[in-house]
Amino acid sequence: MAKINKCSFCGRTEREVNLLIYGMEGYICDDCVKQANEIVKEHQKGKGADTKLKDLPKPKEIKEYLDQYVIGQDAAKIALSVAVYNHYKRLNHRGETDDVELEKSNIIMVGSTGTGKTLLARTIAKMLLVPFSIVDATVLTEAGYVGEDVESLLARLLQAADGDVKLAEKGIVFIDEIDKIARKGDNPSITRDVSGEGVQQGLLKLLEGSVVNVPPQGGRKHPEQQFIQVDTRNILFICGGAFDGIEKRIAQRLNTHVVGFDASRNVAKIDKSNMMQYIAPMDLKSFGLIPEIIGRLPVLTHLEPLNREALRSILTEPKNSIVKQYKKMFEIDGVKLTFEEAVLDYVVDKAIEFSLGARGLRSLIEVIMMKPMFEVPSTGVTEYVVTLDFARQQVENANMSVLKESTEDK
Ligand code: ADP
Repeated sequence: MAKINKCSFCGRTEREVNLLIYGMEGYICDDCVKQANEIVKEHQKGKGADTKLKDLPKPKEIKEYLDQYVIGQDAAKIALSVAVYNHYKRLNHRGETDDVELEKSNIIMVGSTGTGKTLLARTIAKMLLVPFSIVDATVLTEAGYVGEDVESLLARLLQAADGDVKLAEKGIVFIDEIDKIARKGDNPSITRDVSGEGVQQGLLKLLEGSVVNVPPQGGRKHPEQQFIQVDTRNILFICGGAFDGIEKRIAQRLNTHVVGFDASRNVAKIDKSNMMQYIAPMDLKSFGLIPEIIGRLPVLTHLEPLNREALRSILTEPKNSIVKQYKKMFEIDGVKLTFEEAVLDYVVDKAIEFSLGARGLRSLIEVIMMKPMFEVPSTGVTEYVVTLDFARQQVENANMSVLKESTEDK
């Protein structure tokens, strides 16, 4: 009788499976390969919480990693690195029997749009040893209104943890655009503020740490649905927001405080080009965050506005900078791409002139590169130099208003 080959893991025969892979001493079927893959992934993900303290990346190492991708923003980088490190430490410390309980320190990052808040969150996500999700606060509304329930924030985290609740409970959630749930007016009694204060109240529960019912698919909860219970006590929350116009409130506060003896000296010390650095919890309150939320976000940090120098560095320095990306793209076609230095300065000038910020850099380079990207692959050249004249021509032909729109609301 002919020998029947079987999967050495599940015992099913060659005919019962889609594919049987032959090894030196046995066989494995496609199903078992998938399962094994899951187990490996699970093992790797769970590592963060169980890794020995000496093996965890130290705050300095985390910051060095961020430095490779994000230009400047040292204050925010340091706050994030410390928070993530402490988060690991806290997870490791749990279960030890002395009575010092390490409380978590959620973070709030304030900085104008396009200064790198989301980029920081995305970058740190790449090196984290725990599940991580980025969610947007703008979709949230109070229960009973069109929009999503606050608990849906955790649905993404559950997905990032492949449905493993225990793992999700050790994760980190980045809540973007937290300023959009600020109280809409000083008098909350006129109309119900369903996407503002109502959401903040809901969020409070999550930040504080409690067991919440999460709709696994996200969105709005409904009665027939199965919920997954998630304990948020050890979930670290990082919030980010542009808080448009908050500089004015900071300036007002600083001005009213610096009166009396020595006042003129203090005023002189204020760097008016970067008011964000003076941000204090009371500014968030006057912007419309409720004090309870502010209290639950004890680490307040800021991002600096990007000056000319920073914009110039963003073009070339980050590990996956836009210029490096284009070079790579051409290299795949066997073409060596170079930009004249003057082109890069010109792009920065235009981004500043049209207030396009860091996002505009990419749009501008894309405008310049459209023609070469279309033509060069068919020409057979092995070198292509982007000259200032050419760049200028392309940008001048482009419709700047379209360019401007393309960088907004991203
Ligand atoms: P925010 O979340 O603060 O509105 P983003 O992080 O989305 O801004 O930044 C938009 C884009 O601008 C990023 O994808 C990145 O290309 C670029 N950028 C912004 N700030 C920086 C920075 N500090 N370093 C490097 N690139 C940056």
